[in-house]
Formats: sequence, C-alpha cells, structure tokens
Amino acid sequence: MAELRFEGVRKVFAGGTVAVDDVTLEVRDGEFMVFVGPSGSGKSTLLRVMAGLEAPTGGTVRVDGEDVTVAEPRERDLAMVFQAYALYPHKTVRENLEFGLRMRGVKASERRERAEAIARTLGIAPLLHRKPAELSGGQRQRVALGRALVREPKAFLLDEPLSNLDPGLRLDARAELARLHRKTATTFLYVTHDQEEAMSLGDRVAVLREGRVQQVAPPMELYRKPANRFVAEFIGSPSMNIRRCTATARGTGGGVRIEGPGFDLHLDDGRAHELPHEILLGIRPHDVLPVDGDEAPRDADGEIELVEPRGSDLLVRLRLTPEAVLSVVAPPDLGAAEGDRMAVRLPPDRLHFFDPRDGTRVGPDGAS
Ligand code: ADP
Repeated sequence: MAELRFEGVRKVFAGGTVAVDDVTLEVRDGEFMVFVGPSGSGKSTLLRVMAGLEAPTGGTVRVDGEDVTVAEPRERDLAMVFQAYALYPHKTVRENLEFGLRMRGVKASERRERAEAIARTLGIAPLLHRKPAELSGGQRQRVALGRALVREPKAFLLDEPLSNLDPGLRLDARAELARLHRKTATTFLYVTHDQEEAMSLGDRVAVLREGRVQQVAPPMELYRKPANRFVAEFIGSPSMNIRRCTATARGTGGGVRIEGPGFDLHLDDGRAHELPHEILLGIRPHDVLPVDGDEAPRDADGEIELVEPRGSDLLVRLRLTPEAVLSVVAPPDLGAAEGDRMAVRLPPDRLHFFDPRDGTRVGPDGAS
C-alpha cells in the first residue's frame, strides 16, 4: 500500500523534447489512477520516472512521503507491468512466478505457497507447468500480472498492459484487473491512450496533453464537466460537437442569445451573462434530442447526411449549414433516412462553454 506523488516533475530528453512539463499530482493510497492522453503526451515517461527507470530533469517523486527521486528502481518496491510481457521463455509459469521471490531470498516453501495462491487467484493454477510459448495472449498477461502480484509490492505501475490482447479478451482482462484491484486494495497507476478503458477502470483519471496535466477527476466528472476543450473532445465517443458562436445579453433578466452556424438559442440562466461575447459551444452527440413534427419547438434543423447504425443506436450526421454539421446519437427507431430533414433540441443543461482563446471552461455549469 502506498501513496505516490509527483511534485513539479519535468523531463527533457536529449535533443530537447519536453516529454513532461511541471506535473504535480498525487495517487492516493489504494487508488486506481489512470493516465490517459494521445500518443506522445508523456504518460509512459511519467510512469518510468515513478518506477526509477528514467531520471527526471526537475522535480521530486515520493512514495509514502519519502523522496525517492534518485533511488534505484528496486529500492522503491513498485511493480511494473509492461505491454510486452517479458516472461522468461525457458522457464515454466511456476518458475516465472517464483523468480522475483527467489532473487529476494524468499525460501522455497514460501515461494511455492505464494506462487500457488496467486495462480489460484488468477485462474492459472492448471498452467503452472507450462512454458510461455504454450499459453494464449490472455494467459501470458495473467502470468505477467501474477509475477508482479506475488511480490506484494507497494504499488503497481501498468503501461498499456492490455493493448496486445484481442478485443474480447481485453474486456475480460479489464474486468479481471478491476477485480484484482478491489481484492488487493493496492495502489494502481495505469497508463493507456484509450479513453474508454481509462473511464471504465479509473477511480480517478488524469488527462495529459503535451506533457501537462489537463484535468484530474473521477470519470463521470471528466465527462460532465471537462475543464477545457481538449478534455471535452478527448473524453467520450463520438466526440463532443464544438461550434464557435456569439453570446449576446438581452437586457436585465432577458437571458442570453447564443447564435452560431445553423442555430439560435436562448438561455434563461442568469449566470449566462458572464459569458464572453465570442464563445465555443459544446454539446455531446448523446445530448442532442431529435424532435418530431413540423410545429415542435426546435433549436436547430438540417438535412441528414449520413446515418450509421451502431447496433443499440444510430449515429447521424446532420448538416445544419454548408459549413456546419452536428453529430447526433439517435434512437434506432428514428424513422428518418439520409436526405430527410431533421429538427433537434439542444437542452440548456447539456451545453458546455469554452473560451475560444485558451479553451478553458467558462459560463454557467449547465452540464452537471
Ligand atoms: P506517451 O506514453 O504518452 O505515448 P511518452 O512518454 O512515451 O508518451 O513520450 C513523450 C515524448 O517524449 C514523446 O515526444 C516521445 O517521442 C519523447 N520520448 C520518449 N522517450 C524518449 C527517449 N528515450 N528519448 C527521446 N525522446 C523520448
């Protein structure tokens, strides 16, 4: 069990690449923390700095309050699980599980007991005599996890451990990881580029971009109250619609008029007066509501350009103007086809606003 801290951590590689830029963040004792961001955003580098595989250019890393910035990896007592499982190919599963304990001088009978207990937990007990080449990808992944678990480290550092697995197995392995986390109550720090995986696993998720933390929050808070445009577009699928528009106050108590390409909205919320004139309006495709009938109130309408069936729902591309399209997730019984006209509502409590200059969230917290 351990609390992990990054304090003002910076990493500049030879050649001048700033991989991590002033990251301060705490992973709480027993927490499942996920770092998510596009490729190259500095996730792995941060993990490697915590593991002691990479020395930071500046800042401090702590395990349970203790400064370990220059400590050797093995002194930190953290277990790292990589994408490439790196099992010993000539050793059996049992020998792979016991190897780390052997290196630490744990005696044979205890090694045996601990390896067997972990193998039972992971459902790989029947495979103890096999070699890695005789295992499936999923089984190998369990052995790699088992090898980390058997050491009972203070925390686990996992770098895209599921990315080599087939989609079906990935879901199983994800559920298994969540279960293991609950069972061991150990701190997990997990890196992935997959926002859906991050959302499903993390107690909290840190979104990274270009070496900087954009937001750290529980998954649903990231989804409902993204701190900026980048988080808004990165989290959630399909991506949030974002349109540049103008906000104009309509006099005392008269609300605010929001105008943009293909839509014209009126907000009654008094706090909307705080909006800057130029604004980015965001709404998730799931929050746009198709409306029925020619007379029904509407905030926008357009021509359906594309309907993509997704099984449980439809993804509709609605052309509002020659320049503007809106993605809409519609129910499967929509009853409209490509070429038809469709009207929609944009519920005020589902709108997000961002400052076009720096992308930060502004205005009334409608989407809560
Ligand atoms: P992520 O894990 O988010 O994909 P990384 O932490 O691997 O990102 O990389 C962050 C940035 O640092 C990238 O621009 C990457 O090219 C660069 N980088 C990573 N490792 C090294 C290295 N050993 N030498 C030079 N540049 C590196």
